[in-house]
Amino acid sequence: MINIQRDVTNPPLCLETEKKRELSGKIKDGNYRCDKVIERIKTDFFNKCYICENCKPTSINVEHFRPHKSKNIDLKFSYSNLFFACAHCNNCKSDDFENILDCTNTNEDVENWIDYRIEPMEGVKAEFSISETNKNASWDKARIEETIKLLDRVFNGEHTNIKEIESENLRSLLIEDVSIFYQIIRKFSKNQYHSAEQKEHVDFIKSEIRKDSNFTAFKRSIIKRSPKLKQEFEKYFD
Ligand SMILES: [Zn+2]
Repeated sequence: MINIQRDVTNPPLCLETEKKRELSGKIKDGNYRCDKVIERIKTDFFNKCYICENCKPTSINVEHFRPHKSKNIDLKFSYSNLFFACAHCNNCKSDDFENILDCTNTNEDVENWIDYRIEPMEGVKAEFSISETNKNASWDKARIEETIKLLDRVFNGEHTNIKEIESENLRSLLIEDVSIFYQIIRKFSKNQYHSAEQKEHVDFIKSEIRKDSNFTAFKRSIIKRSPKLKQEFEKYFD
């Protein structure tokens, strides 16, 4: 999970229209997934799920960050409450996690308050732990713990047979990505003499730690754990 800056001051007009239609009783269930919402939310969230950070998910949901539970019409049509998530994560979250960190709130440093870790080998679980080094006034242990609980369910879930398979598939993608990232980091760390190759390594690492990359939080955590890599690449965190 990484922080997402998005402008919610001018929400897509279709949300207000749909809300009014539902309020007036003209329709029973207004549509918060109108075309303009989809178009904008996809751009705002870099076309990736905000929870697992899998890029270009094949099954997309417009998720209510705070559940509207069919009663709260303001939450249902509020653009700031609509998030871009994959079906797996939306399903894992369901209405069970009402107190997780908000990645669109710049005061909640989802990336630095949690350490994201996975060993690049098959069969291992993803690990999440609290990082207390970046505490500030908004640091909230209970909410960080709840976020970790959700991430654990998303990446390591065993609560149903289907979820176990989905989590395993997700980890497989993550491990593949992180393995390649480690390989290039190793080449970068060993290379001293071939500047053209080294430029390729640097460019690759820079592109992998961008916000629109797959599993950015895991890759940035790798960079942050090494003082040398941190010094070299942290300045490229966008
Ligand atoms: Zn997801």
